[in-house]
Amino acid sequence: METIFEERQDQIQVTNAETAFEIACNKDSLAGAVSQRACVFCGSRVVLYPIADALHLVHGPIGCAAYTWDIRGALSSGPELHRLSFSTDLRERDVIFGGEKKLYASLVELLDRHQPKAAFVYSTCIVGLIGDDILAVCRKVTAEKGIPVIPVMSEGFKGNKRAGYLAACQAMARLVGTGDTTGISPMSVNILGDFNLAGEIWLVREYFKKMGIQVVANITGDGRVDDIRRCHGAGLNVVQCSGSTMDLAKIMQDKYGVPFMRVSYFGIEDMAQALYDIAKVFLPHDPDILRRTQELVRNELSGLMPRLKALRKDLEGKKAAIYVGGAFKAFSLVKAFRHLGMKTVMVGSQTGTQEDYKELAEITDEGTIIIDDANPLELSRIVKDKDVDILVGGVKERPIAYKLGVGFCDHNHERKLALEGFEGMYNFALEVHRTVTCPVWRFTPRRSGVPIGKAPASETFTATNEEA
Ligand code: SF4
Repeated sequence: METIFEERQDQIQVTNAETAFEIACNKDSLAGAVSQRACVFCGSRVVLYPIADALHLVHGPIGCAAYTWDIRGALSSGPELHRLSFSTDLRERDVIFGGEKKLYASLVELLDRHQPKAAFVYSTCIVGLIGDDILAVCRKVTAEKGIPVIPVMSEGFKGNKRAGYLAACQAMARLVGTGDTTGISPMSVNILGDFNLAGEIWLVREYFKKMGIQVVANITGDGRVDDIRRCHGAGLNVVQCSGSTMDLAKIMQDKYGVPFMRVSYFGIEDMAQALYDIAKVFLPHDPDILRRTQELVRNELSGLMPRLKALRKDLEGKKAAIYVGGAFKAFSLVKAFRHLGMKTVMVGSQTGTQEDYKELAEITDEGTIIIDDANPLELSRIVKDKDVDILVGGVKERPIAYKLGVGFCDHNHERKLALEGFEGMYNFALEVHRTVTCPVWRFTPRRSGVPIGKAPASETFTATNEEA
């Protein structure tokens, strides 16, 4: 059985101190390789979905809407309109005669019924093919109803998931700058690229509050249209999932002069570093902010470290494989596993850039497999060959782990337990501990007859075509 397609060899590299690290990425997925990635439309949908008081209308066949229905469990502290997945449900007849009339009628009906603050209209593959002019329809409805109706140019086939992120940022950028910035403090931030899957934004906002920083807009988790309209008045954009929202940060810097900073709220070092970096930006406004931040971090760590130590005892020496959407999260995960005494043997992403992968190669041990846009076949082979104890991924990676009899941690859309911040680090460690030490793995083929932690030495993985 072929495990690595020849055409994909330059997207899989093993780190080696002797040779320079080179990896190909941001390419269209190989046809037939069943990529773990999603389409352009899905990319834009995941970014915009958590804007909770907007109406999200998928212009396309019902399958596109079903595919992305409630795609992030993004929590809202108020309206829940985002949880509904509206679709124009295009049929054969619409494909032949055009879907613009149906789109117009759907928009008018939905806006009258739900009275949203704005509407996003997503273009899907078939709309790109039949050439419906969704811009004209959106313009018309905006004029008639007096609320922003924003087209999202996200035809699924026109690139990879990253193109969807860009389409989403361009759509949001049409809202930014249209609201009143009165009352915004110079010590203020927008939170970009956090999707509030399990209430993390509320946790991070609490840290900012203790530091004396105002949050103008959550973009996009627990997002609100009015906040986004005025967020160009904030002093700083703090970008976590940079793959998905960096384009918006760059647009805002160019257009409104709002600087941005890339951060991660996962793991101890990165969370603390994020707070210190943000505090330093506001030092000229408030010389006491650094002291308050240090106190916050100290208090959090004094409770966390003894709890982590207790879990580390059982996890020391275990092996982890990481496959996530954006590569930036992977940096924090590698460090978090190190805190637990674990070794990362594979790390990959769907949408990483050259810079991301180079940085990953630098922070991981020699011999770590770095992989871009993987498919299930490759992931399964690596997990088996490296004899990992836990695979970290999302909903599409979960069955791979369980079928192979290894632990799994959902670090993506589906989780219900916050993994960000200091409290999140403990939740992560506890989840890793529970799955890795679960006695059930003794009865799986991989572990059969071998006590936990005493698995047979793994074969060395090589990035070539091999017979299984
Ligand atoms: S936009 Fe295209 S690729 Fe994406 S779900 Fe719809 S049909 Fe599939």
